[in-house]
Amino acid sequence: MLSDLTAPFLPISAYLDDVEPVREPALGGDARADVAVVGGGLTGLSTALALRRHGVDVVVLERDFCGSGASGRNAGHLTPTIGKDLPTLLMMYGAERTAAIVRFADHCVHRTEHLLAELGIDCDYAPSGNVMAVVHPAQEKRLRRAAAAATRIGARVRFLEPDDMRARGLPPAFLCGALEGAGGTLDPGKLALGLRRAALAAGVRIHESTRVTGVATAPSPLVDTEHGAVRAEHVVMASNAWTREIGAPGVKILPLYITLFETAPLDDGARAALGGWPNREGVYTAHEVLESYRLSAHGTIIGGSKVPRYVWGGRPTGRGGPHAATQARIAGAFRARFPALAEVPIARFWGGWIAMTLNFLPSIGPLGGDRRLWHALGYNGHGVAQAIAVGEILANGIVGRDDEWAHVFPKPAPTLPPEPFLWLAARGLLGLFGAIDRITDRRIRARR
Ligand SMILES: Cc1cc2nc3c(=O)[nH]c(=O)nc-3n(C[C@H](O)[C@H](O)[C@H](O)COP(=O)(O)OP(=O)(O)OC[C@H]3O[C@@H](n4cnc5c(N)ncnc54)[C@H](O)[C@@H]3O)c2cc1C
Repeated sequence: MLSDLTAPFLPISAYLDDVEPVREPALGGDARADVAVVGGGLTGLSTALALRRHGVDVVVLERDFCGSGASGRNAGHLTPTIGKDLPTLLMMYGAERTAAIVRFADHCVHRTEHLLAELGIDCDYAPSGNVMAVVHPAQEKRLRRAAAAATRIGARVRFLEPDDMRARGLPPAFLCGALEGAGGTLDPGKLALGLRRAALAAGVRIHESTRVTGVATAPSPLVDTEHGAVRAEHVVMASNAWTREIGAPGVKILPLYITLFETAPLDDGARAALGGWPNREGVYTAHEVLESYRLSAHGTIIGGSKVPRYVWGGRPTGRGGPHAATQARIAGAFRARFPALAEVPIARFWGGWIAMTLNFLPSIGPLGGDRRLWHALGYNGHGVAQAIAVGEILANGIVGRDDEWAHVFPKPAPTLPPEPFLWLAARGLLGLFGAIDRITDRRIRARR
């Protein structure tokens, strides 16, 4: 454990650690565009790219570099997971609406796969699905029920029995599980930089190192930055967890800091001891707050989540971590799930901010009757596919085309309460989920 915690904590992520992207110049004075996009993550880039296809003049304003937010830091599971979990979705929205939400999430994965192929983005994508895995028999009944309910409403989920898990060569700690029929795992850094390249090639104007300080919509949209202002017909807020710092849709999201790690590469012996893991399926555990694990294309394990952190005020502070207690819990969980890898060190940690919403669903679309201010955010930690697919939805809305997927989320997410209620709610919920997961983990240890 001591050696795990001596691993460095990276400023961005393992994917972008030794890549110093050449930055596009900062905005140099006032400018005009048809659409100004705030934030150069997957949401901002995909929206800009989709708008260019309609011939729209678009400028992306990114305070650091494109991909420096969650998009270049995430765990790399391309997944149709949406909402807290399927039984909760069914309870809140009923079968018909839940089925539409599930179809939307599936569509997001397919649009992402399509875009990767169309743009020729090589991001080590392994389309072998992700498995929600049982790590203690007590979790099995609930997961089976959720998988059966998912199948009933048309989701492509297959329950993997213990024999199926072993036949797939998945690590032995994962007893059985529900395999999502769409998606897989990829390298988020290569994805974000690939999308940035494609956006530039399509004629999107990108200004990096350009922090937006405010957005006004009346009398006409104006985006203020540290270096000048951009006047536009429409503004798209794609600033995700940072949105509270800039404007109105920020009150819909609760930023949480998620920590990840990457091990040193596994040698053939270590990999064989796990069962081989030949298809590189992503794995999440069936905890209240999941642990995630995946095998990268270069033979390391990338994992973490489990211990989200809330910071007072709902504003991401600086770059978040490091946080020794969080890293210790994540490392401890990894050691418990992968005892055969006792000799494989954790090589590095990093983390990033996700944006949660009150209903665990993304908030997408126009804000206000004049349809000049648009937003897409709050993917609740499952945004890789959703952030890419919403670009088309927003672009269609802005150019006035109907898009069937825009009707899945007819209203923006509910507004969250102010402090101290936000702090109390976040701490209360995270405390409750953490306590349930600690009981599960104790039972797993006792079983061994
Ligand atoms: C650690 C971690 C693990 C995750 N794992 C997964 C996963 O495995 N699968 C999955 O589907 N999802 C995962 N997610 C979530 C996923 O990464 C996000 O939902 C998705 O990347 C959101 O993209 P985005 O473009 O909306 O936001 P971001 O990528 O956060 O982009 C927002 C951008 O806005 C910029 N910005 C902010 N404020 C300003 C400002 N004032 N002016 C200009 N620019 C500004 C930021 O610098 C940033 O680049 C994970 C997230 C994290 C942090």
